[in-house]
Amino acid sequence: MGEAMSKRLKLQLGGEAAMEERAFPNPFPDYEAAALADADSDSAAAAAAAAAEPPAHRPPAGSLGLPFLAQRKINPTFTRRIQSKIQDLLQQMEEGLKTADPHDCSAYTGWTGIALLYLQLYRVTSDQAYLLRSLDYVKRTLRNLNGRRVTFLCGDAGPLAVGAVVYHKLKSDSEAKECVAKLLQLQRTIVSSDSDLPDELLYGRAGYLYALLYLNTEIGPNTVPQSTLKEVVNAIIESGKNLSKEERKTERCPLLYQWHRKQYVGAAHGMAGIYYVLMQPASNVDQETLTELLKPSIDYVRHKKFRSGNYPSSLSNETDRLVHWCHGAPGVIHMLLQAYKTFKEEKYLKDAMECSDVIWQRGLLRKGYGICHGTAGNGYSFLSLYHLTQDKKYLYRACKFAEWCLDYGAHGCRIPDRPYSLFEGMGGTIHFLSDVLAPETSRFPALELGPWEKEGKVEKDS
Ligand SMILES: [Zn+2]
Repeated sequence: MGEAMSKRLKLQLGGEAAMEERAFPNPFPDYEAAALADADSDSAAAAAAAAAEPPAHRPPAGSLGLPFLAQRKINPTFTRRIQSKIQDLLQQMEEGLKTADPHDCSAYTGWTGIALLYLQLYRVTSDQAYLLRSLDYVKRTLRNLNGRRVTFLCGDAGPLAVGAVVYHKLKSDSEAKECVAKLLQLQRTIVSSDSDLPDELLYGRAGYLYALLYLNTEIGPNTVPQSTLKEVVNAIIESGKNLSKEERKTERCPLLYQWHRKQYVGAAHGMAGIYYVLMQPASNVDQETLTELLKPSIDYVRHKKFRSGNYPSSLSNETDRLVHWCHGAPGVIHMLLQAYKTFKEEKYLKDAMECSDVIWQRGLLRKGYGICHGTAGNGYSFLSLYHLTQDKKYLYRACKFAEWCLDYGAHGCRIPDRPYSLFEGMGGTIHFLSDVLAPETSRFPALELGPWEKEGKVEKDS
């Protein structure tokens, strides 16, 4: 009944129509009903669960039901289907890449993204062939650096950081060092006070800072000296303080950021992405800055939450439309989870769970199956929440988004400009599927930093 009520309310608000055009209605029952139906032969319980679900939420024909066993192990049928889909998509991707733009070396839409994907496959399978494949792509990108941008996702920092890590794993230390040195040379333009560089993740300082953190996580804690990190962190903090002062928001939001004169909220261009990177323990931001500047700013963003649990794309935007990693709850959730880890206050976790609910309802996007604005990126929000809470409900939701991706191409989604890339296309879907099979160590690509892995010791999904 509660569900019927909220549906009627949504209709009145016109939300349903907007939702229909951006996302497919989620055809899967949510975890509680699925678990009940699956529980045992107690047909009364199963019938009650089925009755509680409105018809639109009955599982589609051929659905895989509860995708894991009692010990949280993904069940063998589901595992096999994912594994075979990964192989199928990899083949399609390799074929498609033959005609891809040879000069796009970015992690976002270009060859560095493909190198990262193979690095991921190496991480979860320990199969050396994937590492060598990653090296092939790294070599190609390092020949094509263009000096135009500085971030991990869209600039030269991506190819250099991924190059350093791949060479490091192959024990080619001089090549690795050369990549690190070149990456550090970019630092001058980042911290220069007369630069008009933005601060966001895709093109700005936070995207460069991420590359530094990635090196220190993947290679070793002092690969990038603390003094360098500090300068970059300070430049981001100063920039945020300055804009906050200009806009007379020092009380409410002491760290304010903009991109193209708009104060974006989301992970790609906005404050959620910047705060997320600053809160990483590896960023080493001092306690005072965390509590006096970051925390109130995060709370300011939190108060922009829509009733649905979603977030606006920018502070001046009041329409509840986008549920993407780049704009909306699927990006903001990562900020909230990190805030929970940093400040240990329940409210952040509660908001993160609300994000998860809106993503579950509106996250099967018509834009496709990718990371930035697609089903895979949205699916990662469940994996990250599962990681933190160990609540099977979120593992279930991630598995169902993965199940949706098994029908890649069958839903009539729009085809992205870079259909095989890591952030917009098939590469990202493969990345997500491989993480669903190893949820305990999953990482959103180019965002979440894993624990430092000792050389030669790659976690194995046994
Ligand atoms: Zn996007």
